[in-house]
Amino acid sequence: MLSDEIVINGGRAMARSYAKINLTLDVLDKRADGYHTVKMLMQTVSLFDLVLVDKTQRSITLSSNLKYLPTNEKNLAYKAAELFLSRAGIQGGARIMIHKNIPVAAGLAGGSGNAAAVLCAMNMLYNTNFSARELCDIGAELGADVPYCIMGGTYLVEGVGEILTPVPAMPSCFILIVKPPLNISTASVYEQIDSAPIINRPNTDALISALGRGDTAGIAGGLCNVMESVTVKQHPVIGGIKKKLISNGALGAVMSGSGPSVFGIFNDFEKAKQSADSFAYQYKDVFLVKTKN
Ligand code: ATP
Repeated sequence: MLSDEIVINGGRAMARSYAKINLTLDVLDKRADGYHTVKMLMQTVSLFDLVLVDKTQRSITLSSNLKYLPTNEKNLAYKAAELFLSRAGIQGGARIMIHKNIPVAAGLAGGSGNAAAVLCAMNMLYNTNFSARELCDIGAELGADVPYCIMGGTYLVEGVGEILTPVPAMPSCFILIVKPPLNISTASVYEQIDSAPIINRPNTDALISALGRGDTAGIAGGLCNVMESVTVKQHPVIGGIKKKLISNGALGAVMSGSGPSVFGIFNDFEKAKQSADSFAYQYKDVFLVKTKN
């Protein structure tokens, strides 16, 4: 759990908020309230943002190393602090500093991870003793990926992100993430998914069995994201990166979340590193990381 790694120093909490990748992503249904129910296998990777939270008397302030990131209630981490204080019924404040390493709007749950870190940090700073379940319930109000980010590791995530079932941890391996410079609107991907039948769905149970066997090749062979049916058509570069990852020796490759990040799974560090070096000629956002449990 994310809280396990938070360091408290006086009135300051220091947290790493990790990126996630989707091993699978299936969209099941559209509810009457407009939210889509999903079924996805998520995995934490070692790429992280640094989130510092200082306990203050009143008001919430936020700063980051990225000029274009909102610093007001449009920032999910700011919203998390507001919601925390309101749910805890506390008069107080927080000074939040975020050092972003995870690319923004990439399908890697960067913002959700920051929000999760703020909830866990404030729970510790304010001695509120919310349980993991209670923190996840608060997190679910902020976004579908927040409860998972609070837990971290390898999980089956269902419903609108609030139903979390632990599954066997993914074996340690190298993950090469490449984010092409595209802006993909998650809402428009969902709209297009609603308008055509989904042909290629993940076999989630088979992938969970591969996790149970510690079978990295089996996991890599089962990677599947239904959102690719929309994004690969619109942005052929996504399919191109997948192909190149495979020809560079990845055991499997797929888009994460609603994209545009694509990742490949490697057992062999040398192959992964060579592939990373060749992608780095073309793209700014290339990260060679490891699975994190
Ligand atoms: P997910 O995989 O959960 O859909 P994502 O990785 O695609 O998320 P984020 O990096 O969370 O996307 O950013 C999505 C949007 O949220 C961006 O437009 C960004 O401006 C906004 N945002 C708000 N707060 C944050 C934050 N703390 N870090 C990054 N983006 C944030």
